[in-house]
Amino acid sequence: MNCDILITNGLVKTSEKPNPGHSSFVAIRDGLIILIGTMAELPAQIKAMKTIDAWGCLVMPGLINTHNHSAMTLFRGLADDLPLMIWLQEHIFPAEAKFVSREMVYWCSKLAAAEMIGSGTTTVADGYFFEEEAARAFKESGLRAVAAQGIIDFPAPGVPDPADNIKHAARFIDRWQDDKLVTPGVFCHSAYTCSGQTIKKGKELARRAGCRFFIHVAETRDEAAQSLKQHQVSPVRYLDQLGVLDEGTVCVHCVWLDDDDIEIIRDSGASVASCPKSNMKLAAGIAPVDKLLKADIPVGLGTDGCASNNNLDMFGEISTAAKLHKVNRLDPTLLPAGRVLAMATSGGAAVLGLQETVGELAVGKLADIIIVDLQKPHLTPMYNVDSMLAYAASGSDVKTSIINGRLVMDNYRLQTIDLAEVIARVNSLAHQVRKAT
Ligand SMILES: [Zn+2]
Repeated sequence: MNCDILITNGLVKTSEKPNPGHSSFVAIRDGLIILIGTMAELPAQIKAMKTIDAWGCLVMPGLINTHNHSAMTLFRGLADDLPLMIWLQEHIFPAEAKFVSREMVYWCSKLAAAEMIGSGTTTVADGYFFEEEAARAFKESGLRAVAAQGIIDFPAPGVPDPADNIKHAARFIDRWQDDKLVTPGVFCHSAYTCSGQTIKKGKELARRAGCRFFIHVAETRDEAAQSLKQHQVSPVRYLDQLGVLDEGTVCVHCVWLDDDDIEIIRDSGASVASCPKSNMKLAAGIAPVDKLLKADIPVGLGTDGCASNNNLDMFGEISTAAKLHKVNRLDPTLLPAGRVLAMATSGGAAVLGLQETVGELAVGKLADIIIVDLQKPHLTPMYNVDSMLAYAASGSDVKTSIINGRLVMDNYRLQTIDLAEVIARVNSLAHQVRKAT
C-alpha cells in the first residue's frame, strides 16, 4: 500500500476516540485520509513518500475559523479601545477607503494565512473587498477558504459604483466556482450598510450559485435599536421578512437576540458565526450561544477581522468562548471544553456547509490535520485532551499542519509562504498608514 504522507506514533483524536490512549497512525493519499489505526495495526507493507513521526504529539482535525476579514491584518492595533460605530466610521472605514487596494488585500491576506496556518487553522471563511486577491493569497498558501466578496451600498474598494456590487460578486463566484481549495461565497456587510433590495439580490445570487451567504447581524445594541426604529422589527426578524434566512445563510455575531429571534433562526435552518473576542473588545455584548446550541442551531467560532481582536489564533477563541459563557450565566457547567472544540471543528464545518468533507479525522475525509506538540510545560500532564486544548493550549503549540493532503507547515516552518517577504511587504504598507494617520 502506498501513501503520500504517513503520520506515525501520535495520539490521534477522532470522533470515536476524542481522548486517545494509544500511539496511532494516519495515512494520507490524494488529499484524503485513507487509513487510521493504532501502531500495532499499521500495515507492514505500507510505503510513504513522507513520514512524520508524531511521538509526543496530538494529531487532530484542523480548526475552522467561520468569520474573518483577513486583509484587515494591516489595521491590527491601528485604533483600539473605541465604541464600534466610532471605531468603524471614524477609523476603519476611512482607513479602508484610503489604503485598501489589490496589493494590500493580497499581501495582508497572505500575512493572515501565515498566522492562521501557524496557529492551527486549516479553513477560514473570509469576507472583504478585492476578494479575488484574498482568494489568490489563500490558494497559494494552501489554506482552505470560503471566500466571499464584500457588498455594501456605498463606493467600495474595487467597486466605485455601488450599482455594480452584485455584478462584481457574481463575477467573483464564476471565477472560483470550481476551485478545490477556495469555495466562493457572498458577504453582504450588514442591514445598516446594505438596503433591503441589495440584501435580497445578494442572497438570490448566493442561492443561484449554491453558495454561502454571510451577513453581520445584531452585533450591537445600537444596531438592534436602529432596526426597531427604521424597520419596526429586530435585525433577525427584518432579515426573515426579506426572505434571506435559510440553510445557506450564516448570521455573524447574533449578540442582541431575543427568544423569538432564536426561534426564527432555528426554524429557518440558518447558522451562526460567533466571535467572542471581537464582541468583548468592542464591548458589543455576549451572544446567547448556550441558547443557540440548545436550539440545535449550528454555531461556529470566528476571530472576526484582527483589527477588533487583535489576532487570528483560534485556540484563543476556543478558550474565550468556553469561559465567557460560563461567567455570563454564572454557570461553570455551560459550554464544556469538548463542546467548544466541536464548534471550532465539526461545528464550524457545518456552518460553512463543509461537514461532508472536513471537521474531523475519519477515513474518506479530506486530510486537514494539525499536529500539536505536547512536550511543553503548560501542556503537562494531560488527563483530558479537550480540557488541555480548550484551557491550556495556544496556537503556538501547533507544530505541523496538513491541508488537503499538502504539508503546509512542517516542524514549525511554513512550507508555502515566504514569511520574511510577507512581513516586509505588510510593514511597508503599514509605513504608509502611519504617515497618513
Ligand atoms: Zn466581521
